[in-house]
Amino acid sequence: MEHPTEEDKLKKYWEVLRSAEAYLQGGWPVDTSDPPQKLHQPGSRTAARGFDRLRSHFGGNAQDRTQSQAPVETPRPAEQNPGFDSLEQISAEIRTCEKCRLAGNRINAVPGDGAPNPKLMIIGEAPGAQEDASGHAFVGRAGQYLDKWLQAINLDRTRDVFIGNIIKCRPPDNRDPLPDETAACMPYLNRQLDIIQPRAILTLGRISTHILTGTSEGIGKLHGRIYQFRNIPLIPTYHPSGVLRNPVYRKPVWADLQKLQRLIGQQEAGA
Ligand code: URA
Repeated sequence: MEHPTEEDKLKKYWEVLRSAEAYLQGGWPVDTSDPPQKLHQPGSRTAARGFDRLRSHFGGNAQDRTQSQAPVETPRPAEQNPGFDSLEQISAEIRTCEKCRLAGNRINAVPGDGAPNPKLMIIGEAPGAQEDASGHAFVGRAGQYLDKWLQAINLDRTRDVFIGNIIKCRPPDNRDPLPDETAACMPYLNRQLDIIQPRAILTLGRISTHILTGTSEGIGKLHGRIYQFRNIPLIPTYHPSGVLRNPVYRKPVWADLQKLQRLIGQQEAGA
């Protein structure tokens, strides 16, 4: 069999793009007006961007690699795209969201980061200064400490976990999120959870725990109990920032993490 030439490959690639365009009628346009002059190396950044773009058109839930690389595209609201929700779609909507006052303050919205099919989803409160500056969740001191917690229960942040927050934009002076801000942002988290379907959820601190469990007791009472959110088992624990400030919480956190590890094991065994 003859090996395809570079020109054959280019033609094939072009046909695929054209049929994708036809299939996607009404979706974001795939620009086929200008054929590429050369093929991108598989695995190159440019090729990855192209595939991410196609995947998001088709509703695949690949890991979002577009955050710092891709040009900003105008997101199409999910209701115009029923049955084809994806993490990329949600991230794109979050990055351009203007549903509450926090849009006016942010440098970056922080959609969340991690594996597309993780064992665990961790939910914090809201981005802090470093997260706002970078567009990524839990990258500051609390995030580095959280990484240690994960290592201690043999979870790898990029492979086993998706980390996000209740609200996706930093509140001024890190104040608590207001009820209307939470209400505007919750649909994003619900959609992320419905796609990700983790084995378990870990809430960090009072705010995310109260919102997802519907309870209002102190975190000192709630931590380590098992709740359900959207049919997914949820364990609350202390926020890593609080534990950094007050090491007395280290011991209960360690007990909560061990309980979480057992819970994930049981969920996997039952799967
Ligand atoms: N604290 C949070 O709750 N979320 C972050 O992303 C960072 C710090």
